[in-house]
Amino acid sequence: MSRIAEIAAALEGYDPNLLGVDAVQSFLSRLTDALVVSDSEPVALRDALDRVLARDIVSPMNVPPHDNSAMDGFAFDGAMLERPDAAGNVVLQVAGTALAGMPWRGDGDGRQGAAVKIMTGAVMPVGLDTVVPQEFCRVDAGNLSFPAAALRAGDNRRFAGEDLRQGSAALRRGDRMSPAALGLVASLGIPEVPVQRRLRVAYFSTGDEILSLGESVRPGAVYDSNRFTVFGLLARLGCEVIDLGVVRDDPEALSATLQRAASEADAIVTSGGVSVGEADHTRAVMKQLGDMAFWRIAMRPGRPMAVGLIPKSVQGSGPAVLFGLPGNPVAVMVTFLAFVRPALLRLMGCNEDAAAAPPLLRAISTTPIRKKAGRTEYQRGRVEARRGAMPEVSIAGNQGSGVLSSMVRANGLVVLHHEQGNVAAGEAVDVMMFDGIV
Ligand code: AMP
Ligand code: MG
Repeated sequence: MSRIAEIAAALEGYDPNLLGVDAVQSFLSRLTDALVVSDSEPVALRDALDRVLARDIVSPMNVPPHDNSAMDGFAFDGAMLERPDAAGNVVLQVAGTALAGMPWRGDGDGRQGAAVKIMTGAVMPVGLDTVVPQEFCRVDAGNLSFPAAALRAGDNRRFAGEDLRQGSAALRRGDRMSPAALGLVASLGIPEVPVQRRLRVAYFSTGDEILSLGESVRPGAVYDSNRFTVFGLLARLGCEVIDLGVVRDDPEALSATLQRAASEADAIVTSGGVSVGEADHTRAVMKQLGDMAFWRIAMRPGRPMAVGLIPKSVQGSGPAVLFGLPGNPVAVMVTFLAFVRPALLRLMGCNEDAAAAPPLLRAISTTPIRKKAGRTEYQRGRVEARRGAMPEVSIAGNQGSGVLSSMVRANGLVVLHHEQGNVAAGEAVDVMMFDGIV
């Protein structure tokens, strides 16, 4: 049985002509699981931004390496809090100063009754376990006093290893390197990390009516916008992109381009020509070259989509995963976000957390929204934060599946789930935010 047929057979109630969004997502996660890129390379820490870790990063040391102060103030023995004077103040003698990077090495460490002036980040003197912040303190002729009630023993001390313990995994294989992760690795003194090689993704547009930039306009033709949105979406994922241009509706040209794409890339994204009843040759050529499924998905926009595996001409290397997206520019973006993006993240080697869809935000719809139950709808929305109240979302203009201007104005997609019906003004809805993705 072909791989596509095998996965389809394992999905309960699989019907290529009426597939729910969830079914597509689980189909794709089964398809991509076996095809994760396996090569890795070491890169300098800065170059690891947005890359996927190929191995766990184990901490070679405690972070922070020593107990230190969280405040500017005075370190002392917390037991002294039990011995205030009649006025309720702890009174101590100041024995010296500990600066960040310059520990206090005076004798009499840990002496009860002694305090050491200490700066944030400075090593805690041995035997002293509590820091009283500057603002509670009065210092008079080398004598420190502060109200005992202001703090408890152990306050304002950071422990060695409280961020990371020596020998523990600071980051996991499959994590994507965020700015915070770069900082964490740097805090371990590690200058280079092993990352998965970049995923190579080839893309092209299909259709006789599609013009490349620079071509002059002619009746009935439109400029190719999909190659630019797809480029942007892929670049944001950190893929190595291969732009194969616009391909005419000609079986030989389509076949040659698809084979070239499969030989050069791990994944292929095309747009146009996959609707049922299309007059063009795209579907036939895909079917002829690969192990394919053609779907009608219960969603809007983005009903038609093709998915499959195109074998490489080189023996011994796995097939390329083909995503045949619809032609309409907004349908391309929505199907990319819903299906292609999570699938590519998995192919890149992301673990479950790193490949997870961004969390949905709950927002109050400012207007009623018409919605047909039995399909998932994505509407372009503009979310605005409100102080002390749930955010509000307004539908961002014309929702036609070819209208990119409303996509540009939107900062998220209102996700109207499969079973959901009409939404009243003032009702809460889920929104997939675009931050950093679109
Ligand atoms: P199709 O899925 O090929 O039937 O295309 C659906 C609609 O999307 C048609 O109006 C096409 O002209 C339009 N379209 C297809 N490909 C592109 C593209 N690359 N850029 C802009 N519009 C496109
Ligand atoms: Mg077409």
